[in-house]
Amino acid sequence: MTAPWSPDLPERALEYAERGIPVLPLSGKLPRIPAAHSPGDPLYGLCKGGCGREGHGVHDATTDPDQVRALWRRWSHANIGLRTGVAFDVIDVDGERGRQSLQRFLTDHAGGLPIGGPRVRTGSGAGWHLYVQPTGLPDRIGVLEGVDYRAADRYVVAPPSRHSHTGRPYVWYAGRGLDTPLGEVPAALRERLTPRPTERQQASAPMRPAEPGHPYGRAVLVAESARIAGARGPGQGRGGERNQVLWEAARNLYNLPHAVAHATSTALKQMLRTIRRSAPATASTRRSGEDPEAGKEVMP
Ligand SMILES: [Zn+2]
Repeated sequence: MTAPWSPDLPERALEYAERGIPVLPLSGKLPRIPAAHSPGDPLYGLCKGGCGREGHGVHDATTDPDQVRALWRRWSHANIGLRTGVAFDVIDVDGERGRQSLQRFLTDHAGGLPIGGPRVRTGSGAGWHLYVQPTGLPDRIGVLEGVDYRAADRYVVAPPSRHSHTGRPYVWYAGRGLDTPLGEVPAALRERLTPRPTERQQASAPMRPAEPGHPYGRAVLVAESARIAGARGPGQGRGGERNQVLWEAARNLYNLPHAVAHATSTALKQMLRTIRRSAPATASTRRSGEDPEAGKEVMP
């Protein structure tokens, strides 16, 4: 089944760019521009566009209106990715589990104050993107259970993109579009996002050769395994969550340094093969038009 698309994707991509938000075309949730470097190329996983070609994931994101027009002329149905860590960071809340853990955290550590700002209901129908002031702090997968923090060198899928499995659009909450002042990351959450000295050391030496079992790769693998294991598959309540998590895992590995990514993805692929054997593809539950329920949930 082919997912439908919103006819105004090219104009909307241009609008984001004109607001100073770097955009990149996506296929589903992954970069649409074919990768410049493939495995075996010495620049694979290392080059961030310095070679002058296109095809470097989030590093292709641009605010140049001519480039944006050209990209969406080539791929008029492409979903829109917005680079995070520039104009805003995004708190990415995955499903009811994420919603509850964020709510709990805010109640326990932030006086129960909600995180304001622009807000998107994701096309999976079970996720929310909370747009907040950029903190300069690094990306963090699983900063809370079911909650990721999207910052430098990451991106989020933006309205009116559609989810490739459900066919449903990403939508801004009514009255909570990009004109809304950005939300604030509570101090307690900032503290969680701040790297500890050992993490800083690892982050500052991402180019060193990595062997299988490299601590950084292992940490990512452990985090991703936990997310996949915790996701419900078809027939266990809301189907498709596992597909979402599998995709997230793939994307989270996308920007790892090459050698780490290779060792880690080999282990992950093995795990995915095992999971796929036991979890057949989920039937799509496409709905047409906007989601009338978006914006009605109680969200922290
Ligand atoms: Zn390159």
